[in-house]
Amino acid sequence: MELWFSEYQTKNVKLSFRVTDVIYTKQSEYQYISVFDTEDFGRVLALDDTVMLTTKDEFIYHEMISHIPLLTHGNAAKVLVIGGGDGGTVREILKHPVKEINLVEIDHEVIETSKKYFPAVSCGLSDPRVKIFCEDGIEFVKKHSGYDVIIIDSTDPIGPAVGLFSGQFYKNVFEALNDDGIMVAQTETPILFGDLIKRIYTDMSATFPYTNLYSAVIPTYPGAFWTFTMGSKSINPISREISDIPFLETKYYSRELHKSYFVLPPFVKDIISK
Ligand code: SAM
Repeated sequence: MELWFSEYQTKNVKLSFRVTDVIYTKQSEYQYISVFDTEDFGRVLALDDTVMLTTKDEFIYHEMISHIPLLTHGNAAKVLVIGGGDGGTVREILKHPVKEINLVEIDHEVIETSKKYFPAVSCGLSDPRVKIFCEDGIEFVKKHSGYDVIIIDSTDPIGPAVGLFSGQFYKNVFEALNDDGIMVAQTETPILFGDLIKRIYTDMSATFPYTNLYSAVIPTYPGAFWTFTMGSKSINPISREISDIPFLETKYYSRELHKSYFVLPPFVKDIISK
């Protein structure tokens, strides 16, 4: 008997994995959590039948959402992660000499699931520099400040994540950042969701003096060609001196390529400039 998991990436496009074992399922207060093993992509975490990570390619997303803003800043001591309950982003941030990481994940069940079934992803969550808050990140940024870097490691803009993709939220993030602070958000694929990317870019640039997109190839996310949008209060990301970037143990991020991640193909430039 064949067992397959399929994610509807759009109404008309599905990505399917042959499942070798269903490890865990649970309906939490916020979403349907599933963990299963696959033939080619290792273990998968899905929320509401949408792939959050696979053990085969999670390093790409987690390295790129963390190292680009942290290395652009160059001296981050206090970092906020909104979402990111699997812990992969925290694991990567801990490769930098930061003093404190606040992780604000709305669904504690995601954290527990990752701790139990994804030890190599969640391994940083028990580090003494990490403080975990199980609450809504939209409200959290209104009440806390003093961050050097804020990373929005959220689900797609549906359910509780909708407000994490709004102009008002970016304004609140701006206020929560120090004067040289930087934010970054995962912002989906231009192959399928150009309108969303355009709206995010417009909203972020209405608040941040520097707004830049960068990209990575993530095979298990819709469109595979993924973007991150960065807002910076005073540091121009493009002017980062490569020779000052410290060596990090990474598998996708490369300091030789640092500047090139910000170089956009013409069709993406068109999306944000039209
Ligand atoms: N890498 C992922 C992706 O793009 O597929 C994101 C993974 S991470 C597990 C996303 C997390 O964001 C989820 O665990 C979800 O519970 C959390 N989340 C969604 N909305 C949130 C909110 N308003 N505040 C805090 N966390 C939120």
